[in-house]
Amino acid sequence: MTTTKARSYAAHNATAPLAPLTIDRREPTPTDVEIEILYCGVCHSDLHTARSEWPGTLYPCVPGHEIVGRVTRVGDGVKRFKSGDLVAVGCMVDSCRTCPSCQAGLEQYCHAFPTLTYNGPDKFLGGHTFGGYSTSIVVDEAFVLRVPAGLDLAATAPLLCAGITTYSPLRHWKVGPNMKVGIVGLGGLGHMAVKFARAFGAQVVLFTTSPGKVADGLRLGAHEVVISKEAGAMRKHLASFDFILDAVSAPHDINTYLSLLKLDGTLTLVGAPGEPLPVAAFNLLLPRRNFAGSAIGGIRETQEMLDFCAAHHITADIELIPIQHINEAWERLLKQDVKYRFVIDMASLKAG
Ligand code: NAP
Ligand code: ZN
Ligand code: ZN
Repeated sequence: MTTTKARSYAAHNATAPLAPLTIDRREPTPTDVEIEILYCGVCHSDLHTARSEWPGTLYPCVPGHEIVGRVTRVGDGVKRFKSGDLVAVGCMVDSCRTCPSCQAGLEQYCHAFPTLTYNGPDKFLGGHTFGGYSTSIVVDEAFVLRVPAGLDLAATAPLLCAGITTYSPLRHWKVGPNMKVGIVGLGGLGHMAVKFARAFGAQVVLFTTSPGKVADGLRLGAHEVVISKEAGAMRKHLASFDFILDAVSAPHDINTYLSLLKLDGTLTLVGAPGEPLPVAAFNLLLPRRNFAGSAIGGIRETQEMLDFCAAHHITADIELIPIQHINEAWERLLKQDVKYRFVIDMASLKAG
């Protein structure tokens, strides 16, 4: 198969800094869209993967699954996109398309496992897929999203993972008016969750370990911000929440949050620390609480989320960086020091 070259930044092992790497992209097949990447968000999953905090990382690893770009070429059979269109790609670039999950528009739960944008099997070129820390990508049109007019492009990139990963569970558990909703952790996912929960009409309480984020939490839409290390402030909220979304990237005490749920309340994990989180049985038994999880969102719902964001003027709060600053950005992510998503300006990779 013929290929074209793209520039990228890659991790070559679990500890080395990301460094430049030239990679191959396939020539567009009849159903493919070739995209010049303009912006790519920096998700904590990039770091979990590249640092082998989750099992199964293949090297070299080119992370990045919050991609916004411009179409440069399309295959003969592509119907929905043309050269020049502004488009986006999230965490998946393919799935089996036939299993019940895929047919229900829930490709993220594909029974054969979706092909992830990076670190998935590349059925065209062999080896594994390379993500958005690169100048271009080629994706089947079925997994390409349309960027609605009027959205700031750099601030839209994080919607493709942080946005959909929080929008989907808030919709699934029907968050809305008359619901008391907790968001745990004000990072990339957490800050989008605060914005969406507020836009859906809920009473929003943010839990943070960082006293320096209280003012931002309120500005982003929380009605109240609780410093989770203050036991007295936590006790005030015992058994009072309908729903809590936990977006924390590191091991932490989940039982504290379970005890804040009221009868039939649900705590949903979207954060994905590498180690197990112990759950005390009685925190679930009494009073009949639910502990759940949720992964990203399907393609149809991702488009719905982008359209909702355009209609409600919602995007991420970002720090735009040149790709040469990526290693420093990852160090800051580990220190909970991000406001609230790093986005790579890919012009820096084309120039450098
Ligand atoms: P992030 O921007 O680094 O934010 C994580 C936040 O968690 C931090 O800002 C901090 O908030 C809190 N936190 C970090 N370490 C903590 C600790 N030791 N104890 C308590 N709180 C801590 O990360 P992200 O990109 O939003 O991703 C969050 C998690 O979701 C990651 O594990 C990521 O892999 C996962 N994820 C899952 C999905 C999915 O499909 N389910 C999709 C994308 C990402 P405060 O400073 O406010 O405490
Ligand atoms: Zn992500
Ligand atoms: Zn499937």
